[in-house]
Amino acid sequence: MTDTAQPTEMGLNRVFCNYCPAFCCYRLEGSILLLTATDINRLARHLQLGDGEVRKRYIENRNTFKVREDGSCVFLSNGKLSKRCSVHEARPQQCRDFPYDEPCPYLHREDLLAEIYPRVEKSMGLQSE
Ligand code: SF4
Ligand code: SF4
Repeated sequence: MTDTAQPTEMGLNRVFCNYCPAFCCYRLEGSILLLTATDINRLARHLQLGDGEVRKRYIENRNTFKVREDGSCVFLSNGKLSKRCSVHEARPQQCRDFPYDEPCPYLHREDLLAEIYPRVEKSMGLQSE
């Protein structure tokens, strides 16, 4: 799988991650964040809570994080240019691995790309304002 990844495209991925409103942290149609017991325990230790308390506060359907009305993960916080994970150090494995050494699939969606591309251009000085 990694053999097919293009270094330049992967580098571009990281640039977009810096300015992306974290589409991968939303429950979009067809996507789901699946948590393992290890993920929950890692988060519990980070938050200094018991695993059961983490499940009660933050988890629904036994294996995914609750989301807000707009579909965003309960741990997504707003940043100035981009949104950030408030539990980055203890984020689940799926969040660490995505987009699995492949170009981010969300960057191939024109509607989402149109939202973040102007921010990238601005940060690179490609726009006058
Ligand atoms: S949606 Fe893609 S580009 Fe945006 S933060 Fe997630 S991995 Fe990065
Ligand atoms: S745990 Fe963090 S990285 Fe994972 S979906 Fe929630 S906000 Fe995003």
